[in-house]
Amino acid sequence: MTASTLADRLRQPEYTGENRCTPCTVVNVVIAAALSLLLGVAWPPLALVSFAVFAGAIYFRGYLIPGTPTLTKTYFPDRVLRWFDKEPTPTRVGSAPAAPATENDADAESPSDEVEAGQLDEGGESAEELDVESSLLEAGALDWDESGDELRLDPAFESAWNDEIERTDDATIRRRLADLTRLDADDISLESRSRNRWFVAVVDGTTVGTWESRAALVADVAADAALGGRFDDWDRLTGEQRSALARGLRIYLDRCPACGGDVRFGSETAESCCRSWEVFVVRCDDCEERLLEVDADALEPEAA
Ligand SMILES: [Zn+2]
Repeated sequence: MTASTLADRLRQPEYTGENRCTPCTVVNVVIAAALSLLLGVAWPPLALVSFAVFAGAIYFRGYLIPGTPTLTKTYFPDRVLRWFDKEPTPTRVGSAPAAPATENDADAESPSDEVEAGQLDEGGESAEELDVESSLLEAGALDWDESGDELRLDPAFESAWNDEIERTDDATIRRRLADLTRLDADDISLESRSRNRWFVAVVDGTTVGTWESRAALVADVAADAALGGRFDDWDRLTGEQRSALARGLRIYLDRCPACGGDVRFGSETAESCCRSWEVFVVRCDDCEERLLEVDADALEPEAA
């Protein structure tokens, strides 16, 4: 057996690379160091040798001590885990890499004066201020129902959106994302991450957008297309703002963009390697695709 096939056999992709869990790795390195020091008391050179072996195990297998995720989950304060956790919050496209994209006027772009400054209600931290709800109302994508209490999709917009969803395939997605991020459509690849929890658009190894599923991405891309003609200042919106608008509409989906199934709303417990937290989720009843996920803390700021 060659060294590289040995390495391949030892490697556990579900715990390494993209999936490596930082808190678990830190805990394991600390344990490895402590064990090596103990062994070093017995015979000093053993400290070095054992640490090298332990570090190799952590590198290839993701952890040294089986069950570390449970240990970490139990003993690390959530605040610390959250700090390290790589679990992405669904981002909006446009938090793009400083890629050598076509030179453009993106930098000169400032948030539109027409849109009122406001607070995104989805825990967004980077989208420039844009009141998603009132912008969507103004554009005629949303309107009030008969009672005047609840927002709903404007019927004309809804059918335009559904038409766009019908005709959205991977090529459409890439083209639309290229337009949003000002990157080259051919450079964008679409893939699943974190054991299918997220669907991402990647350019040169850098994630340029994250969605709950491919279905969620289809909904956003189609919404972006349907919204285009309804804003006077569309060209002045940034990719992040357009993406926030599309995401703001997803809560109003009543059919799954992937299979046409009914959708359900509910609370779920999301889990990464060593952390779990409460989320509000919109999910397809038929294919189980996750269409929207919002951190429960973002909805009830004092809940934690
Ligand atoms: Zn479905």
